[in-house]
Amino acid sequence: MEQGISVERAVELITGCAHPVGTEHIPAITAHGRVLAEDIFAPMNQPPWPRSPLDGYALRAADSAGACKESPVALRVVDTVNAGDFSNETIGAGGCVRIMTGAPIPGGCDCVAWQEDTDSGVTEVRLYAELKPWENYCFAGEDFKRGDLLIPSGAVFNAAAMGVLASAGLLREENQISVRRRVRCALICTGDELAENDTRPLPPGKIYSSNAALLSARLRELGIELTVMHSTFGDDAAALADTIRAAAGDSDLILTTGGVSVGAKDILHESLPLLGAERVFWKVSLKPGSPLMFSIYRETPILSLSGNPFAASATFELFARPLLAALSGTDALLPKRCEAVLDTPFLKTSRIPRYVRGQLRNGRVSLPEGHASGLLSSAVGTNCLVEIPVNSSPLPAGRKVRAMLL
Ligand code: AMP
Ligand code: MG
Repeated sequence: MEQGISVERAVELITGCAHPVGTEHIPAITAHGRVLAEDIFAPMNQPPWPRSPLDGYALRAADSAGACKESPVALRVVDTVNAGDFSNETIGAGGCVRIMTGAPIPGGCDCVAWQEDTDSGVTEVRLYAELKPWENYCFAGEDFKRGDLLIPSGAVFNAAAMGVLASAGLLREENQISVRRRVRCALICTGDELAENDTRPLPPGKIYSSNAALLSARLRELGIELTVMHSTFGDDAAALADTIRAAAGDSDLILTTGGVSVGAKDILHESLPLLGAERVFWKVSLKPGSPLMFSIYRETPILSLSGNPFAASATFELFARPLLAALSGTDALLPKRCEAVLDTPFLKTSRIPRYVRGQLRNGRVSLPEGHASGLLSSAVGTNCLVEIPVNSSPLPAGRKVRAMLL
C-alpha cells in the first residue's frame, strides 16, 4: 500500500489551510472557556496599597535594632488596623501599630513583626526579634501594577484568568471583552452497518455507532460547538455530498469518520468530487488511521478520519486538534508532549510511526492490552498516546519514549 505523507507534513498542510475564526464582544463574566482576542491590561495596582502578610505589629525596622528574647525592645502601640480598615496615622520613631493579615501598612512603617515574636502587648509591645527594612512587607502592586499585561491575546480564559480578572475589578457585566467566537464543527459518522443506541434488538450485521458519541464529547471538552451531528449516516455518496454542502454554510470545519479506505463502500472518494471539494491529501504514514483524507470545500476544511473507533480517536488528537487550535486562534488546544519511561515492553516492530494508547503516571507509562484500531474498551483510563518511532525494533520496559497527552 502507498505509504502516504508524514504526520508532520499532514499537520502542516491542515493548519496551513486554517484561519482563526472571527471575534465577538461578550461580558467578561461570561468569558470562562473562551479564547481571548485582545490583550488585557491591569487598570490598577494589586494590592492597591502596601499590606501586611501576617498578624503582628507594623513598625520601623530601625527601632527593632538589637531586639531579642533576653533584651526586648518596647514600642508604643498607637493604633490597630484590621483587614478592611485604613489607618491615617504616620508612625514615628518608637511607635508601631497592631496589624492583621491583609490590612494596609500605615505610612512610616517599613516592616511587620510576627505577633509570635512579641509579648502581644496592647498599649505597649515588647519585640523579641530584630527586623530588616521591608521584612514581611507586601508592596503595593506586588501582584500586578497598573498597566501590566494581565492576560495575553490567544489565552484560553481558564479559572485562574477569571480570578485574575476579578482581582483587577474587571469581572463586571458592563466590561465587554473581545473573544474568538466559538468554532463550529459538523460531525458526520458514516457506515451502513451503524445503528443508534435506541435500535433494539440490534439487527444482524449492525453495530452501535460509537464515533459520534466519543468525538462529540471530545469536541465539547475542547470548547467546540456542534452544528450538526450524524452518528449513523448511510453509505450514500450523493446524500453525503448534499449534507456536507448544507453543513458547510454554518460550520468552520467538517469532521467525517468512515469511508476513506479502499473498500467498495468507501464513499468519500465519490462524495467529495460530487461536492466539488479539493482533495489536499489522502493517506498519512502512521498507524492507526492511515487512510486519513483532508479536503477543502469553499474554504471549509473537511477532515475525514478512518471509521475504526480507536483510529478515529487517535487521529482526532493528532490532526483535528492542531486544526481546531488554528481555527480557535489559540495554542492551548494543541496536544502537549512529554518524555516517559515504558513500564510495559512494546514488542511489535514498526516501519511506520505508530501511536499506541498509554496510561501515564509519574513519568512512567504502561500500555494496556488491545492495540488494534477497532478496539475501544482499552481507551478508558488511557491518558496519552505513546509514539513508537519509525523503524523501531522491539522496545523493552525501561526505554524512554515520547507521549502525547490527551
Ligand atoms: P471504515 O473506515 O468505514 O472502513 O470502517 C472501518 C471499521 O470501523 C469498520 O469495522 C466499521 O464498522 C467501523 N466503524 C466505522 N464507523 C464506526 C462508528 N461510527 N462506530 C463504531 N465503529 C465504526
Ligand atoms: Mg465504512
